[in-house]
Amino acid sequence: MSDGDPLPVLFLGHGSPMNALERNRYTEIWAVLGAKIPRPRAVLCISAHWYTNATMVTAMAEPRTIHDFFGFPDELFAVEYPCPGSPEVAAEVAEVVQPRWVGLDQDSWGIDHGTWSVLVHVYPKADVPVVQLAINSLAPLEEHLDVARRLAPLRERGVLIVGSGNVVHNLGLMDPRYPAAGFDWAERFDEAARAEVVAAPDDVLTLASHSDYALAVPTPDHFIPLVYFAGVAAASGARPEVLVDGYAYGSLSMTCYSAA
Ligand code: ZN
Repeated sequence: MSDGDPLPVLFLGHGSPMNALERNRYTEIWAVLGAKIPRPRAVLCISAHWYTNATMVTAMAEPRTIHDFFGFPDELFAVEYPCPGSPEVAAEVAEVVQPRWVGLDQDSWGIDHGTWSVLVHVYPKADVPVVQLAINSLAPLEEHLDVARRLAPLRERGVLIVGSGNVVHNLGLMDPRYPAAGFDWAERFDEAARAEVVAAPDDVLTLASHSDYALAVPTPDHFIPLVYFAGVAAASGARPEVLVDGYAYGSLSMTCYSAA
């Protein structure tokens, strides 16, 4: 696929790594996306779980599957997602974000569960090349929004840009008594995020001053993929819409967005 109709940009609330093995109303939506979206040249995933001290992109031809979690069943550690990488798309990422710098990662990372726990449903054959973009933990939110805006032209080059995180993500306050419900503050923040992202994605950073931000976003790793989604959508005039929503364990929101 060369320059043509832009692909949508996605934000997928990935939730528990166990979603990789389950079939539920979220994973069903992810599977529908894979069938519905024109086949991309590659997926560029901004995963909450590659949260490091530089902006990097995986540039290896055969990225490894990373099992970056503890305390889950053996069958989850047995999941492999043997998708090809795309050194070519990694180089394009580095090119489009200039003058900002993105390092080409040849051997440190791969495909982490923020990416594969959703892609096993979107592209179960693992036959679409995947590159991951690291989240630079040292950069302010404004810089992430700027990088996102620069990535937007890749939509027209056959690249499916996917942010994988959770709008509300507070692991410390998770409560197993509420497997499919949200606390009041979680619902308030998720609804505020929805109003902002749908109406004015360019203003996504105003959410950082919301009164529930500290509870909903105790660390920014799972929120920043939403910033990427909003920045790509805003820069290309795409209109965000909610694909599916819901809550898990009180303190996670599962809301997923698409913009086209
Ligand atoms: Zn996660």
